[in-house]
Amino acid sequence: MSKQVDDFMAKVAERDPNQPEFLQAVREVVESVMPVLDKEPALKKAKILERIVEPDRAIQFRVAWVDDRGEVQVNRGFRVQFNSAIGPYKGGLRLHPSVNLSILKFLGFEQIFKNALTTRPIGGAKGGSDFDPKGKSDNEVMRFCQNFMNELYRYIGAWTDVPAGDIGVGGREIGYLFGHFKKLQNSFEGVLTGKGLNWGGSLIRPEATGYGAVYFTQEMAKARGESLQGKTALVSGSGNVAQYTVEKLNQLGAKAVTLSDSSGFIHDPAGVDREKLAYAMNLKNVERGRIEAYAKKFKGVTYTAVDPKADSNPLWNVKADLAFPSATQNEVNGKDAKNLVKNGVRYVAEGANMPTTPEGVRVFLEAKISYGPGKAANAGGVATSALEMTQNAQFASWTREEVDANLQRIMQNIHGAAADAAKRYSQPHNLVDGANIAGFLKVARSMFDQGVV
Ligand code: NDP
Repeated sequence: MSKQVDDFMAKVAERDPNQPEFLQAVREVVESVMPVLDKEPALKKAKILERIVEPDRAIQFRVAWVDDRGEVQVNRGFRVQFNSAIGPYKGGLRLHPSVNLSILKFLGFEQIFKNALTTRPIGGAKGGSDFDPKGKSDNEVMRFCQNFMNELYRYIGAWTDVPAGDIGVGGREIGYLFGHFKKLQNSFEGVLTGKGLNWGGSLIRPEATGYGAVYFTQEMAKARGESLQGKTALVSGSGNVAQYTVEKLNQLGAKAVTLSDSSGFIHDPAGVDREKLAYAMNLKNVERGRIEAYAKKFKGVTYTAVDPKADSNPLWNVKADLAFPSATQNEVNGKDAKNLVKNGVRYVAEGANMPTTPEGVRVFLEAKISYGPGKAANAGGVATSALEMTQNAQFASWTREEVDANLQRIMQNIHGAAADAAKRYSQPHNLVDGANIAGFLKVARSMFDQGVV
């Protein structure tokens, strides 16, 4: 089987040799689904795998804007519309200096299977820009967003492609993007999700990815006859996903003891309780400061600067029961994964997309800990975006309780579908194979039904 995988990957790599993140994401899916395809000759003959690794289209454009000093700045904008076999394209926009086509293709590719798992009718896409919002004024962010939308608006629409937030894109950016789309198109439609509550947003959308990751972990714990009550958790990142992961952990009687940003992490053995979380949210969302300030504000907290080039991250060497990588891709390597397992972590749920390297994934699977890959564990965000689209289409606003009940049910279904596929096609504990296969089969069969397009 590994020869078949290697041969297939050699062809993908020949086309895009300089896209390491994309190749990493494709290999993981191909390793899971190749054995299944051997039992599905019709899908094999229709070359579904060869077709699914090619985006429907990848759009790249110039974003020119003027900063507060009157200087012209030039950034690069992208939208990768990967697959629309089961619904309109759906996936976030990322604003970060590291953004390039490889990263957006990896994210768009993963999004296809994640969106299929949510049980909602949404295809896969991703977009963004190498614009760095750090240190920019509100006016600069607004001017950038408007110029980004000056091009993007041609390709999106409520029934075509519905972007959302991701790293560097929260409520503020979605507001500027939505306002400018409406101005350009003269159409008030559900073209973006993560909107403000007064103008078509859904309750629970900001919370959904973090809450969903914890609900998913609750399902993994139930499968072992356990609960999250009294457990200690490591959380990385301090943005949207990390913040609401901590909030839900607190509500369920667990305790988060770390938070981080791209400079370093804080360790708070007493736990990031409600009051401290409110401080961290204000620090990151309003003051746009560094997490180091948390350690100066509260007693008994240590701050450790992290060198991104070091061979491991000391955050993953803190003793705990649960781990929620919620910052960025490849933030947990093989050594970090070994440290987590050695220190007794038995549940890992990925809030971020592809935060664990292939070596790290192998460590988790060999140790047979409960490991929820991002595709499944962080799908609550996009699932709730789809609930926002449903409300927009109905001109309705659901209550907090209604949306939260839907989110919990969806996370239970995702866990159930991944666990069933793992049992049927792989090993019962392997939710990586389970999530990849369950997501893939739904999209592959839809592509097959719709002919060669
Ligand atoms: P935010 O921008 O709100 O927060 C990102 C956090 O990660 C910040 O603390 C940031 O630190 C840190 N971070 C970013 N890049 C790096 C890096 N290269 N090294 C170390 N730390 C880094 O983003 P989100 O919380 O929305 O997204 C976090 C992850 O979750 C991403 O992988 C995203 O794709 C994924 N995700 C998000 C969803 C959503 O609904 N928002 C849905 C599903 C997945 P700093 O402040 O220093 O930049």
